[in-house]
Amino acid sequence: MTLLRDRAPDARVFKGTFLSPRGSTHSEAGGSASGVSRLRTLADVEVFDPGWLSVGPDGRILALARECPKDARHVVDFGDALVMPGFVDTHTHLPQYAFTGLGDLPLLPWLETYTFPHERAFCDPTLARARARHFFQACLAMGTTTVMAYGTHHEEAVHIAFEEARASGIRAGIGLVLMDSHVPADFATESGKSLLAADRLAACWDRAGNGRLRFVVTPRFAVSCTQGLMEGAADLAQRRGLLVQTHLAENKDEIALVRELFPKAKSYTDVYDSCGLLGKNTLLAHCVHLGADERALLQERGCVVAHCASSNTFLSSGLMPLSRFLEEGMRVSLGTDVAGGTSLSMLAEMKAVGDAARLRKALYGEEPVKAPSLLSLATLEGARAVGLDRHIGNFAVGKAADFVVVDDLLSHPLYPRLGRNRQELGQQLEQRQGQTLATGESALERLSRVISRPHPDAVRETWIEGTKVFSRKG
Ligand SMILES: [Zn+2]
Repeated sequence: MTLLRDRAPDARVFKGTFLSPRGSTHSEAGGSASGVSRLRTLADVEVFDPGWLSVGPDGRILALARECPKDARHVVDFGDALVMPGFVDTHTHLPQYAFTGLGDLPLLPWLETYTFPHERAFCDPTLARARARHFFQACLAMGTTTVMAYGTHHEEAVHIAFEEARASGIRAGIGLVLMDSHVPADFATESGKSLLAADRLAACWDRAGNGRLRFVVTPRFAVSCTQGLMEGAADLAQRRGLLVQTHLAENKDEIALVRELFPKAKSYTDVYDSCGLLGKNTLLAHCVHLGADERALLQERGCVVAHCASSNTFLSSGLMPLSRFLEEGMRVSLGTDVAGGTSLSMLAEMKAVGDAARLRKALYGEEPVKAPSLLSLATLEGARAVGLDRHIGNFAVGKAADFVVVDDLLSHPLYPRLGRNRQELGQQLEQRQGQTLATGESALERLSRVISRPHPDAVRETWIEGTKVFSRKG
């Protein structure tokens, strides 16, 4: 592997089993690969077992090699662990983390019962700070190094969220939630005022924190926004070159309500398009129920679908046709969508995505989406979704060393009864069964298991730009 720059004398070297997605679903020229080839390239994950990662003092990757660099002075050995690029969660809700797992309701009553009361509490700055601090720590503990999150409609609480994100070291896109219709009276900020607040927050925080922070224009969803507010939001995004995030076609009742509220629109997707909200910087969560014309429109505009499988199941929203979207050339990333989703863990989300795709295979004969593709979606495709694929997403030379150290052994069914490390497990299995089972597992088999059986303590360490930002105790 060619070094981009000379090795700095104080470069650090990390040893472990590295998994590096390299399957671009888009060619260098920017055109997308088509059909089944797109699914195939998504599954392209390079394995270094073992690998040595050299990181410069600036936190950038100098090399990932299959042999220890000759001039390595100090090697950090991750032993049995799998090392993956940091996870990119492209859709979740900061204020909803506190009630994750509660509620067995469809979307609209769930919003009334749980979401609005919890979001209202963020008018208290002390609570807002404590919740934000806890949220970003929880993201890092799950191996998420980049997160796109809804805040609330309180300008001060969003300021506080940015301060806490900066202090934690995470990469974060955060939005002031814009809404002026069909929400509780105290939530419905006058359009002009909320857009001015969004503009102030963008001026203060977009690309702050050494470029790690982004302000995201965040109309809640079409049901709670007037046309005027959405047009103003689109204008703000365009004027300042901001990312946009919102929800689209999550639930059938929601779609019926949008049809009622916007009778002139051709579709739910058309509501956003007619306001100017759709573009290559737009992340659309869910997209479970889209017509062919809507899918074509999203592709034409270059939007990203943030697939939230755990949430789609928990709120009984439906099974998004992931394989079909990928075959059609749609840009797709993953999101935990807490608290519609039941965990901030991207490993758990990958499991939910894989399970949903398997169900669609059983029901409709669509291609299943396997572990290497799930890892690509959770890392490199996520980076691409938020315009950061030149900087993060895999272990390519020159990128920031954002990575997660995963103890997949915790997911082994015989751990710790037969052994407390891979070698012990292997020896025990060998003695009992005459085969090298545990030590003989390939890195991709181990990846498949850690996704199928994610352990809550799976993440041992999380690193961003070569700095350790989370370490599991004990
Ligand atoms: Zn959401």
